[in-house]
Amino acid sequence: MLKGKVAMIFNVAQLLKASVGTALEENFDEEDVQLDHDLKVCGPITGHVRMRRTNQCILVDGWVELTVELSCTRCLRDFEHVMHVPFEERFYPTVDILTGLAAPVADDEDDIFYIDDHHHLNLTEAIRQNVLLEIPIVTLCQEDCAGLCSRCGYDLNLGPCACPPEVDERFSVLSTLLGNGLTVAQDAQANHKKTTQN
Ligand SMILES: [Zn+2]
Ligand SMILES: [Zn+2]
Repeated sequence: MLKGKVAMIFNVAQLLKASVGTALEENFDEEDVQLDHDLKVCGPITGHVRMRRTNQCILVDGWVELTVELSCTRCLRDFEHVMHVPFEERFYPTVDILTGLAAPVADDEDDIFYIDDHHHLNLTEAIRQNVLLEIPIVTLCQEDCAGLCSRCGYDLNLGPCACPPEVDERFSVLSTLLGNGLTVAQDAQANHKKTTQN
């Protein structure tokens, strides 16, 4: 079990008894909710949800706003990231509200959710999935994060490190050639002196 209370649960018994098209809207503001072991939520999750009765299910749409802690792909620092995540999902009843009998299980689609046998619609899992999908693969603490030095590992956002400036391969070859050239020239000069002395 995740730390923190399970929240964002709505009783939809009345809505299930209502006629097709009936809608119920709710705002929520939940403190202390964690969605996933691999994701730290900082502060409350706020949002708005609209639940609409259709002939087979309850169509749920809305949005959540939350702050999560991410790790920068370049400099590895943790930083807080504010997210606004819209969602839309279908929730099917498991019990027929009028007869109390088990409701026929919906088509074998896997992108659907179920309302429990107490007619509680729990948004938590749907929100978890939608939030995780919205997290980019590359997460940067700032657009122009300078990252870490590839040689000493120093965080270059804090300023330059002590490593000598990187020399371009082509220039280093050139400087070796120039260096050799100089030695050759000096040798030639020395030889010339020798010959004139003789
Ligand atoms: Zn960074
Ligand atoms: Zn360095």
